Amino acid sequence: MRVVERRGKAPKLPAESQLTHWFWQGLGNGLFQTTRCRSCDRLSFPPRPDCPQCLASDMEWAPLATHGKVYTSTLIRAVPTSFIESAPLPVGVIDLDDGIRLLCWLVEGAGRLPLDSQVEIVTIRYEDGCLFGAAPIS
Ligand SMILES: [Zn+2]
Repeated sequence: MRVVERRGKAPKLPAESQLTHWFWQGLGNGLFQTTRCRSCDRLSFPPRPDCPQCLASDMEWAPLATHGKVYTSTLIRAVPTSFIESAPLPVGVIDLDDGIRLLCWLVEGAGRLPLDSQVEIVTIRYEDGCLFGAAPIS
């Protein structure tokens, strides 16, 4: 997974739970992962202790696809205070190649991207932690 370095602290880092700690730790080490149900073999994102499809509690960690397509994108102009320096904030809904749909930042000056644009998921590394985003594939 490619790493995009950013100066300073992250605008806002998510609160980690015992479960999501592994996701965020993995992201910092270049792994993009989530939980997969051992019963029905389906991935779920964000990571969950129980399967949203069959309700089994037998989950394991599995890698997520790091490539996908833009389902939709927009620029958020009315941002929370902690994101003021990032406004307008480009975000996109991405359909990963493994079928997971997620919301994330668009990085590297992507702004809004046309529907179905090819993107890769990247680690955004700040001084105090990591986030993830999608960058266009040229
Ligand atoms: Zn299941």
